[in-house]
Amino acid sequence: MTPLRDNHGRIATDLRVSLTDRCNLRCNYCMPAEGLDWLPDDKVLTDDEVVRLIGIATERLGVQEVRFTGGEPLVRRGLVEIVRRTAQLAHRPEMSLTTNALGLKHTAAALAEAGLDRVNVSLDTIRPETFAEITRRDRLPDVIAGLMAARAAGLGPVKVNAVLLRGVNDDQAGELLRWTIDQGFHLRFIEQMPLDAQHAWHREQMITADEIFTRLEKEFVLTPSGEPRGSAPAELFTVDGGPATVGVIASVTRPFCGDCDRVRLTADGQVRNCLFARTESDLRTPMRAGASDAELAERWVRAMATKLPGHGIDDPAFLQPARPMSAIGG
Ligand code: SAM
Ligand code: SF4
Repeated sequence: MTPLRDNHGRIATDLRVSLTDRCNLRCNYCMPAEGLDWLPDDKVLTDDEVVRLIGIATERLGVQEVRFTGGEPLVRRGLVEIVRRTAQLAHRPEMSLTTNALGLKHTAAALAEAGLDRVNVSLDTIRPETFAEITRRDRLPDVIAGLMAARAAGLGPVKVNAVLLRGVNDDQAGELLRWTIDQGFHLRFIEQMPLDAQHAWHREQMITADEIFTRLEKEFVLTPSGEPRGSAPAELFTVDGGPATVGVIASVTRPFCGDCDRVRLTADGQVRNCLFARTESDLRTPMRAGASDAELAERWVRAMATKLPGHGIDDPAFLQPARPMSAIGG
């Protein structure tokens, strides 16, 4: 086993696999209303190729956790079978899914049966009109039905990820927290990052973790949970004495790059050693040219070594990566 170690001593054990860059929502902080130029089908890894690369990562490179994401992973037709085959690998990883939950109502039970352990659902509001404003689709009831189905299927603890946008839903943080606590979901707020396709992100516009605390503390008593953060990006707080908790992921204002244990594989078979990396390492082309598992593993190890120490968002020379979050895999 060769760990995915970078030149700063960090070891990646958590693999994010993007299964598609396509999506059935159009969250305005993620992509434009008209969508994006999707990857052509022949560039997207096949189910066999995805499972092969996950096998290499888990059996040769020490990866222990796999999160399927996108784009919207539920629009990938082979998802349940990919999960089932990943669960059957010799070194079975922990498996989770990051999803907008559209259609999860119909697939949650099958995903759980195939071996999926957990889901994270992205939901920024529980008001239908705000949901439609953010996602440009009037689908809130489907998301809520998906969340309920995930809970019923035992895909828990179900986490809910929310992004707050100034003047849109930043006044709804408390309402969302109350609702998730009532439903038994674990809410985590994520700072908005400069990863949108439109390049519309502005540091001065984003809602910071400090602002999120100020807003929540008007309605709740938040106490640091005392759990060591380790490589988990969320700072956790108990709410009103517990047991409920809320997390804040301050990727921009309190980066956790020094503890990062992540590596990413895009839907077209490129390894990215960081969400913000400006370079990628191609595994698809050598794989299709007949490279062995050992050769692909070696390329993967090399791709990780050069991971930069931090994302540098606050550096005046910061440049957004060429691909947006939806094409990298969030
Ligand atoms: N479609 C799935 C979903 O929405 O959960 C998976 C992919 S999506 C890119 C993954 C996560 O990234 C979502 O929680 C979404 O809210 C978040 N996201 C997208 N663009 C973002 C941005 N610019 N800053 C912070 N989070 C973002
Ligand atoms: Fe789709 Fe997720 Fe981006 Fe929303 S955040 S547009 S659901 S990929």
